[in-house]
Amino acid sequence: AILTMSGLLGARPRVGYYLTGKEPSDIIAGLLGGIKVAEVLSQPIAVRETSSVYDTIVTMFVEDVGTIIVVSEGGFLEGVASRKDMLKAAMAGKNINKLPVSVSMTRMPNIIVTYPEEPVLRAAQKLLNHQVDALPVVSPVATEDGEKLQVVGRFTKTNITRLFVQLAGK
Ligand code: ADP
Repeated sequence: AILTMSGLLGARPRVGYYLTGKEPSDIIAGLLGGIKVAEVLSQPIAVRETSSVYDTIVTMFVEDVGTIIVVSEGGFLEGVASRKDMLKAAMAGKNINKLPVSVSMTRMPNIIVTYPEEPVLRAAQKLLNHQVDALPVVSPVATEDGEKLQVVGRFTKTNITRLFVQLAGK
């Protein structure tokens, strides 16, 4: 039963059990490939591009997140501010109450994003390949100023850790 459930063995009436030829790694990839970002994402924690570095740091503490998504009016993706981005801004000796977050963030079009329908495995590869902790989850929207990315969620290493533990059934 364990071998058929895992996909390593197939079972057919009157044929019996047969080896599917799948490797354990194929099965894990198949399992993760079938789970979409929409099923594991977190709520986006965002500030406006006009917010100060000070307020962005306060939001990081209050919301207990390491990455803040920066949006324009309407919730469209403008940039991403990480812990170290804010640390660097704070260390520069300027008045961080007056300094807008947009000066210290990574901005569009250099933001690596994911989509609700993207397989979790693909989004996890993006986190690793680009060495970042979080990806904004976006839906493209046509506007008068061209296509924009509406922020609908946040995909982080924590989402993967939670899924990993859930898949183990613990
Ligand atoms: P930290 O800077 O705290 O180590 P990250 O490793 O996530 O956190 O961020 C590293 C750099 O990459 C930062 O300058 C940040 O602005 C940028 N960054 C974070 N997430 C993304 C993303 N999804 N797309 C593009 N750049 C990002």
